[in-house]
Amino acid sequence: MILELNNISKTYQNSGVSREVLNNISLQINNAESIAIVGPSGSGKSTLLNIMGLLDNANSGIVKFNGEELNNYNENQLAEIRNKKIGFVFQSHHLLPQLSLLENVLLPLIPEKDKKVKDEATKRAFDLLEKVGLADKSKQFPGQLSGGESQRTAVVRALINNPELILADEPTGSLDQESANQLGDLLCQINKENKIAVVVVTHSLELANKMNKIYRLTNEGLENN
Ligand code: ADP
Ligand code: MG
Repeated sequence: MILELNNISKTYQNSGVSREVLNNISLQINNAESIAIVGPSGSGKSTLLNIMGLLDNANSGIVKFNGEELNNYNENQLAEIRNKKIGFVFQSHHLLPQLSLLENVLLPLIPEKDKKVKDEATKRAFDLLEKVGLADKSKQFPGQLSGGESQRTAVVRALINNPELILADEPTGSLDQESANQLGDLLCQINKENKIAVVVVTHSLELANKMNKIYRLTNEGLENN
């Protein structure tokens, strides 16, 4: 099992007002599984995904990654897992405009000191850009790309460190139908061919239906559809 959440609760405190967003949520994600999380706006989907991605802490509950309980991990240890094992894709691609596609894709390698690892990643970057149909654009800048091409680049960047888990928060939310469909197929292909677990938060039933399982998050909790 790649990721396990047990009885996760999360309350935001803002200027004396507290808002409970997640109440006793449990979820298990098997290796190489693909799941969709759907649910109304404000139900806590992004909060849940951020907790899964070790970007945010729950107030209570247990998070296990590859069977290891993370509650006592310090920020450096969490960052190590986050950088090496988890890839993120957001609704907006977050590509840096002043860097080429290739440089954007290799951004997660900046902390890496080992030249061999860097060289391998560069080779993988070309292979992945090829796979998503962007090999001939590797020297171009994000401003010259369509929305679909930008998101496919963001997926390549998420894959560059060979993660075991991809977390995608409404990755097709700003795409037209055809680009959305293409991106959904890409996520499925990655899941099946590379055996990477994929969790996608989405409003699109079409995208959700491409995944192995669909969960719905509401104020009542998380249920398997
Ligand atoms: P979703 O992704 O399902 O739309 P979110 O997880 O983004 O839901 O947010 C759930 C609720 O928590 C919303 O009511 C939102 O306003 C609130 N919320 C999210 N982030 C914060 C924050 N940093 N501080 C306070 N409230 C927040
Ligand atoms: Mg959200």
